[in-house]
Amino acid sequence: MILVSECLAGVPCRMDGKSKPVPGIVKLVEEGKAIPVCPEVLGGLPTPRIPSERLGDRVINKEGEDVTAAFVKGAEESLRICREYGCSFAVLKSKSPSCGVGVIHNGLFDGGLTAGNGVFADLLLREGVTVMTEKEFNLTADS
Ligand code: SF4
Repeated sequence: MILVSECLAGVPCRMDGKSKPVPGIVKLVEEGKAIPVCPEVLGGLPTPRIPSERLGDRVINKEGEDVTAAFVKGAEESLRICREYGCSFAVLKSKSPSCGVGVIHNGLFDGGLTAGNGVFADLLLREGVTVMTEKEFNLTADS
C-alpha cells in the first residue's frame, strides 16, 4: 500500500480549497492500492486556510500566527495511518510546508523556494518511509 497526499488524489483539501489531481495517483486510490491523507486537515486546520510556510523549526501563517502545533499534530496523525496500512512508500505534493520533499517555500511568502522538507515529509523520512514528489512519480510512471 502506498501513502499519497490527498490533494493529489483529487480531494479539494488545499489551502485554496482546490485539488491537484495526478491521474496515476487517482487511479491507485480508486484501485485500493493507495491511501490518501491530508496532514493539515488531520491537524485540525480548515479548508480553505491561510497560507503557511516553514521558517526554521516553526510553521508560520501569512498573518504571522505560529501554526506549528497543528502541523505537528497532523503529521503524527498521518503517520499513524501510514503505519496502520503498512505503507513504506509515499508520494507527496511538492513544495508544501507539510508534504514538500527536498524543496519548500522559503518562509517569506514571496514565492521563493529553499532546500528542505515539509513537516510530514520530515517525519516520514525519520521513520524510514521512502518519499517522492508527484513530479518524480510522474517521471517514473512515464519511463
Ligand atoms: Fe495536499 Fe499535503 Fe497540503 Fe494536504 S497538506 S493539501 S495533502 S500538500
